[in-house]
Formats: sequence, structure tokens, C-alpha cells
Amino acid sequence: MIRRATTLAARRIRSNCAAGAVLSTRSQYQAPSERRDGLPELLIGSARCYLSADAASRASPWADCPRAPPDPIIGLTEAYLKDDFPNKVNVGVGAYRDDEGKPFVLPVVREAEKDIISEELDHEYSGIAGSPNFVNLALKFAYGEDSVPLKENRVAGVQTLSGTGGLRVMGEMLRHALGHKEIYIPDPSWGNHTPIFKNSGLEVKKYSYYNNETSSLDFEQMIQDIRAIPEGSCILLHVCAHNPTGMDPDMEQWKEISQVVMERKLLPFFDCAYQGFASGDARKDAQSLRLFVNDGHKVALVQSFSKNMGLYGQRVGALSVVAESPEESERVVSQLKVRIRPNYSNPPRHGARIVERILSNEQKTNEFVEQCEGMAKRITQMRSKLKQTLEELGSTTDWSHITKQTGMFAYSGLSKEQVTALREKHHIYCTLDGRISMAGVTSKNVAYIANAIHDVTEGECI
Ligand code: PMP
Repeated sequence: MIRRATTLAARRIRSNCAAGAVLSTRSQYQAPSERRDGLPELLIGSARCYLSADAASRASPWADCPRAPPDPIIGLTEAYLKDDFPNKVNVGVGAYRDDEGKPFVLPVVREAEKDIISEELDHEYSGIAGSPNFVNLALKFAYGEDSVPLKENRVAGVQTLSGTGGLRVMGEMLRHALGHKEIYIPDPSWGNHTPIFKNSGLEVKKYSYYNNETSSLDFEQMIQDIRAIPEGSCILLHVCAHNPTGMDPDMEQWKEISQVVMERKLLPFFDCAYQGFASGDARKDAQSLRLFVNDGHKVALVQSFSKNMGLYGQRVGALSVVAESPEESERVVSQLKVRIRPNYSNPPRHGARIVERILSNEQKTNEFVEQCEGMAKRITQMRSKLKQTLEELGSTTDWSHITKQTGMFAYSGLSKEQVTALREKHHIYCTLDGRISMAGVTSKNVAYIANAIHDVTEGECI
């Protein structure tokens, strides 16, 4: 029997060829009698192919595994690394670089690491909820030393695999322990929020956040949308340095948001990935969260130490929930542990030890604050420099949003086509939504980037 090969079959055959399996086309195949032995015959294009029984039985179980598209953010770095253009620029991934464009390890982190090594600690498992000392210090850092719920011992906290891991655990907690079916996130939001929550079993819905026309917060519409969220739903809020827009509500606006969230009986879930990194002042950056807690919200919070301590690859974070009582808090922790155990069992130790060493020591904490502020300042300088250079080049576009925004990113307003032109013509890699990681902009490449942006916009960008 001769069958026209289906796409899948053809793929399987090609994969077998690649694996060295026995495969013949008619031109090579010299034993017609064998053809009648019931061997599979396939027509690929105009070629008639015969797959030996041996080859058929050795077909890879992965032959039909489809190729997934590259990650929209991490995939950019992969493309960047393959580019051999000498002046290429990676402003895609949100990882801090010093003014030489090099990854930066905070000196206070280096010191803590030396201490840890010299102590010759063991590598035993952490508990499911991680290091209690780390969790206590992380919570004090976010909620504040004077936080009433912390003093009343009614904040449920666990160590997580950085911000991403904490978001996922909370997503599963919402779906499976509290029975939520959906979560509301800002439009736009960090690109990984939607897949994280979808994979937790939640439907992701959006509330308005940003006005592309004016390059600013769309506050009126945001409040209107939040008012329409069904009672009891969970709403995700960025504590500071909103990713990707870099636009945060001011304190008056936060007060109004808190009021509406209270009226609608919503569960506010704060994502805190940039504390200290936005303004350079960790306390100021936590104002929104602390306001909500003072207003009596039973917030949930996910923290990441990736950016502010530069611990990206160590996966250090915490997830916490403000409860009504210590007893309620214990019940919440028990449920969080039920989500964590079959997922990754327990978190890694090294990064948490670094954070503990820093936040448990006043002098080290001060050094950390200073070094974190240094990163924030360099980014602010690069914002001014980029805007100024664009103006000097004669750009007729209003670039004032670049300096109004805070945190790691400039939400440039570049269109998809302009972003593609930046990549193809100028070897500058940023995400398709026009988000530029200011952490990748340096004194050396800022003029090159400005020239390229000017070239692709020619005054057409908003
Ligand atoms: N939330 C937001 C808003 C982020 O920007 C990020 C990192 N880009 C994260 C969470 C998670 O980061 P990580 O898992 O590296 O801590």
C-alpha cells in the first residue's frame, strides 16, 4: 500500500533519517520482493520511501513533539548572543548592568558570600517553607519594622523561588485552596504574569492601566475597571516601578485605589520585584503596600531579591499573606506548604543565606541601601541622557515619558515595526512592546541607541 505521507509521518521519517535509521527511496531500493513484505511505504513529495520494520520500531517518541516559539523576553538574549555585530545592544532582559555593560555583583553581596564560605556550612535541605530567619527579615524589609500585623504575628510567610515561584504558588493557592477562577492584572503587565497564572489554573482578566496616546497612567479608566471587578476577586498590583510601563500611581491615587479595592472586597495581591530599585529608597518604594496594610487590607505579597540585591540566578523571594490572627496565619502557611511540596519540595539555601547576612546586620543593610541606590541613580542618569541625546539629534517626538517613568524600564512607545527595525538595522534588542531595559544603557552606547531610535522613528513615534 502506498500512502501520501502526512506531515507528521514525514517528520517522523526525516527524524529517523537523522537518527541513522534504515530508509530507502525507490531509486536506491533494489529489492522489489521485499516491498511486498508489508513494510511501510510512504510518498514524500515525489519520492517513494520504504521504512524498514526495524526503523519503524525505533521511531523517536519525540518525533511528533512540536517546536515551541522562543520566550518573548529570554529568546531575545538568545538572538542577541548569536549576533556577531560588534556594537550590538541588549536592552531586552531586565537585568542590571554597570556603566561598562557588565553584570554587577553588589560588594555587600560579595562580602556576605565570603562569610558564608568561611563558615563551612552544610547543604542539608531547607524546610518546605524555607529559612524562617530569611522570611522574617524579608517581611520586615517590605512591611516595615513597625508593621502592626508583623508585631501581632499574623503574617503568613514562606520562602519562594524568587518572584516567579511566589506568583505561581499564590496562583495555585487561589485556584485550589480558595476556589478562585480568575485573577485581574493590569493591562499591560509583566509578560510572564499571564502564563504563570494560566498555568496555575486561573483565567487572566485585565484592568486598564496605561494610556498609550498620552504615555501615562490611565487612572480614571483604571478606577472604573476596578469598580467593575466582581466582589471577592483577586487583583494583582505592582508595588512600584511597574513593569513594563515604569508608571506608578502617586500616593493620592493609591489611596483611592485602596478605597475602591476595599469597597469591592477584593483581595489585593502585591508584586514587589523592585523595592529600592525604583527611587533608591526601599521605604519609599514600599509605600503603596504599607498604605494598604494600614488601611486594613488582608494583602498577599510576593517579593523578589533578584533586582535590588542583584541575586537573579539565586532565586530568592518570599510569599506572604496578612491574616486576621496568628491561628489563621498558621492555616495559610499549611496550605502554602501543600502547594510547594509536590512542586519543588523546598527552596535553595545559598541566596537566602546572603540576604539573611545583609538584612540581619545594620551596617551591611546600610551598605546594601547605598549600593542599591547607586544602581537606581545610574539608571536615572541614563534616562536623562537618552532623552537629551534624542532632543539634540532634532527628534520632534516628545520623549518626556522616558524621564517620568521609574524603575528598570523605559516604555518607549516604539511600534512593533520600529522595534523590528531597531533589531534588524541597528542590532538593538528590545521587546516588541517597545520596552527598553534602561539597565542595559551605558555612557558608551547611549548615543548609538539614541541615533538608532531617531532613525527608526523619524519623528513618528508618540
Ligand atoms: N514580577 C515582576 C513585575 C517582574 O518584573 C519580575 C522580573 N522581571 C518578576 C516578578 C519575577 O522575577 P524573579 O522571578 O526573577 O524574581
